[in-house]
Amino acid sequence: MLTIALSKGRILDQTLPLLEEAGISIPQTELKSRKLILDTNFDDIQVIILRASDVPVFVQHGAADFGIAGKDVLIEHGADGVFELLDLGISKCRMMVASEKDKDLNKSSLKVATKYVRSAKEYFYSQGKQVEVIKLYGAMELAPIVGLSDCIVDLVDTGNTLKANNLVPLDLIYEVSSRLIVNSAAFNTKHSEINGWIQKIKESL
Ligand code: AMP
Repeated sequence: MLTIALSKGRILDQTLPLLEEAGISIPQTELKSRKLILDTNFDDIQVIILRASDVPVFVQHGAADFGIAGKDVLIEHGADGVFELLDLGISKCRMMVASEKDKDLNKSSLKVATKYVRSAKEYFYSQGKQVEVIKLYGAMELAPIVGLSDCIVDLVDTGNTLKANNLVPLDLIYEVSSRLIVNSAAFNTKHSEINGWIQKIKESL
C-alpha cells in the first residue's frame, strides 16, 4: 500500500488535478465524505488529507510514503527525515514582513506576531535584529493594528488581506510553492514504485 499525504484547503484544489493528470484520481464520493483515508482508482494507493502543517510530520514518521506541502510548512517543520524531491510550482505565494505604512522597523527591539516562528526568527536574526516573536494561530493582521506587535510575518498572495486591514508588505523573506516530499526510508524500500509516480507527476507539471 502506498499512502499519499495531501494538505487540505487551497493547496488541495491545485493538487488534485495534478495527481489526476498523473493517473491517480479520488472519486467525488470519497472527497465529499467525512472519511480521513480516501480510496483512489488504485487498490494499493490511498490518500490522507491533513492540516498542511501535519503533512511533513506524517511523512517524516513513515505514516505516509510521500506528501505535498508548502515550502513555508517545510521550513517551519525543519523537514528532518524527509527528502524534498520536486518543486510543483503550485500554490505560489510569498512569506513577507508587513506592517502599517509608515511604521519604523529599525528600532532596537521589535515585536513580531506570526504563525511562522522559525521563518521570522531566522529572518530577523540574519538581519542582526533582536526580536520578540509572539506566536499566533490566525488573524495576524490584527496584531499591529491593536498594538500587539510592530509587524507581522505572514503569507501574502494577492495582498488583498493586508490592504483590507491597512497594512503594506515590506520585506520579502522567501518565495513559497508546494513541494513533493518523500519519507527517506520509504524512498529506499519502495524506490521503484515511488519513483515511478514521481516521474508521472513531473511529466504532468
Ligand atoms: P491574500 O489576501 O491573497 O494576499 O492572501 C493572504 C491570506 O491567505 C493570509 O491569511 C495568508 O496566510 C493566506 N495564504 C495566502 N497564500 C497562502 C498559501 N499558499 N497557503 C496558505 N495560506 C495562504
